[in-house]
Order: sequence, then structure tokens, then C-alpha cells
Amino acid sequence: MANTDPVVDVGPLASWVLDEARQHAVVRVAQVGAVSRGLRGEALAELLELVEAGAIAFSDDGRSIDNGDVLLHALRYLRGTGRPILLHLQDPGLSVDGVMHEGAWSARLGMRGVPSAAESGPLSRDLEVLRYAVSEVAALGSTDFPRLHVQHVSAAASVRLLREAKTLGLPVTAEATPHHLLLTDERVKDFDPNLKINPPLRSEADRLELVAALAEGAIDCVATDHAPHAPHEKEVPFEEAPFGALGLETAFPALNAGLVEPGHLTLERLIEAMSAGPCRCLGLQAPHLRVGAPADFCLVDLDESWVFTSADLFGKSRNSAFLGERGRGRVLLTMVDGAMRHVAGRVREELEGVQE
Ligand SMILES: [Zn+2]
Repeated sequence: MANTDPVVDVGPLASWVLDEARQHAVVRVAQVGAVSRGLRGEALAELLELVEAGAIAFSDDGRSIDNGDVLLHALRYLRGTGRPILLHLQDPGLSVDGVMHEGAWSARLGMRGVPSAAESGPLSRDLEVLRYAVSEVAALGSTDFPRLHVQHVSAAASVRLLREAKTLGLPVTAEATPHHLLLTDERVKDFDPNLKINPPLRSEADRLELVAALAEGAIDCVATDHAPHAPHEKEVPFEEAPFGALGLETAFPALNAGLVEPGHLTLERLIEAMSAGPCRCLGLQAPHLRVGAPADFCLVDLDESWVFTSADLFGKSRNSAFLGERGRGRVLLTMVDGAMRHVAGRVREELEGVQE
């Protein structure tokens, strides 16, 4: 994402990140460029320079694009590049000082809430801007439409807008996170700062709508919104903790146990939503298994079932919303471009035996 320090809003910064990644990263790293300079929502970032440098998409993640004219101009610049704009939807007024979903649980707990309208409101406006930008392109006789992708959808109201937009044929895609697909605002009653997430965990009705939308395709893919925080940052009262939770390590086993096992989602759809689905949203080539092609795959033991502990986390951070939850489907091996990049302990022992 572009919301680093410094903000990735010019080409040379994106080139630098991608060069570092080529030299040191064990997985493929793609860079998202900022939509506006400094994420300030005013002047546009150097969009075309960022495209040249290899940015695969654009986002002011962390905040909405509040000025509709900035979004419209960005869509105009990017048409023909194939690069989508990724939306973090958050009405700044409706979300000010909010720490959790606004509903029965925020009332009971006496905490300031963020209503669903803080997400669906800006989404409605952005879809209208997209519709206008698409009509401009259509008027030129072209089908080179600009695209929007909605990040971390959390509210049923947003799903309804997405369904409507897709029915109209608007070029929009969307993702949901494992925590919004599996957890609800009720869990905040334990005041665990790892459950303080932006957008917030919402109601059970919202969650069920997200699951249905993922199953039917109105939500195209799963993305983790992985947000590591140092332990000392999260070891504070709920209201003071920063937003965000880990997601990468637990994503597949948590969703497999929570949605596939009880029959709410097929295994095929979950795998699609975590592999080809995200590629489709970003306009990247989907991974495939083919003789002679570089090996890009995960090997998963679908039967292994266990309760997540901090031993399941591989980064420096521990702020997972899933510690104590059950997962099913242990990732045993991850191959990236023909190289083994993650090997589970018991597989490593077997491999060593084979080599001997
Ligand atoms: Zn975001």
C-alpha cells in the first residue's frame, strides 16, 4: 500500500520498493501507488509515472477520497492503463472518534461507534462518479473503462450497492477480510485491542450478507488487510489502541473452519477467492499449474484442525484477532516461482529424510 512513510506518490519511490523486493523478498511484492499527493486528497499523485515504475493499482488506503473531483480526474488519467483504483471507504465525519461498529453493542458498552453509512455513503458517491467516468469513455466509442475495487467491505448496505452496480455492468470489484467474514461486534465485549479494526467488526446480519456475497460472487475475493502492530502499541485500553489486526497466517485455515466446514462456502470457491480472485481484481495473470510453468502453489493438509496460538504467527507482531479460534487446513508448503518459501516443520523433517 502507498500509505507508508514516505507515501509512495512518485515513480522513483515505487521503483525503489520494487527493486528492494526483487533482491530480498521471499514472495512477490507488488506496489500500490497513492491516488493523491501525500494522501491529502487534493492534488493527484504522479499517476502515470507510478504506472511506468510498475505500480499495479492506486489507493489512498487509510482514508476515503473525499473530493469527488479528485476521484473523477484519477479515473480519467488511469483509463487505458488497466490499473484499478482501490477504495478505502470511510466518511471522516461519520467515523470521527469511533472505535467500533455503531449498534446495540456499542450502546451497551458505552463506546463511540462508526455507523455502516460511514462506508456505504462514500461507496454510493464513488459508484456514481465511476458511472459518470464510464459514460464519458462510452461516448467516445471506447470500452477502455476505468475500474474501481472496494477494499475490506464490512457492511450489508455496501453489499447491496455492489450488487446493484454489478447488475448494471459497472466495472467494480470488491474484497472482504477473514475477520469481517467470521467475527462480529459482539466480540468487542472482551475489550481485546486486537479486535479493534478499521472498518470495525459489524453485526451478525452484516457478516451473513458478506458470506452470501462472497459465495455468489458479488464480493470477488478475500484479502487480509494484514496490519501488524508492535505488542506495546496494542497493550493499552481498547479505546486508545491503534486500528488493525494480522491476517496472513490464519486466513485460509480460519475461513476453511468457519465457512467451508459448516457448508456456507465451497472449498473450490474459497480457493478461487484467495488465488485467482485477487489476480482478477488487480488485472494480474492468475496462477495456474502447468507443465513447464514456474511452480506457484500451496500444499495444504485439509484435515488438520487446531486452535490458533502465537506459535502460528511468523512475523514480529502478535496482534491477531484469531488467537484462541479454531482453524482447519494446515499450509504445509508454499512454492513461489519454483522455490520453497515456507515449509512446515513436519514436512521439513520428511524432506530431509528424502534428501538423505
Ligand atoms: Zn484500508
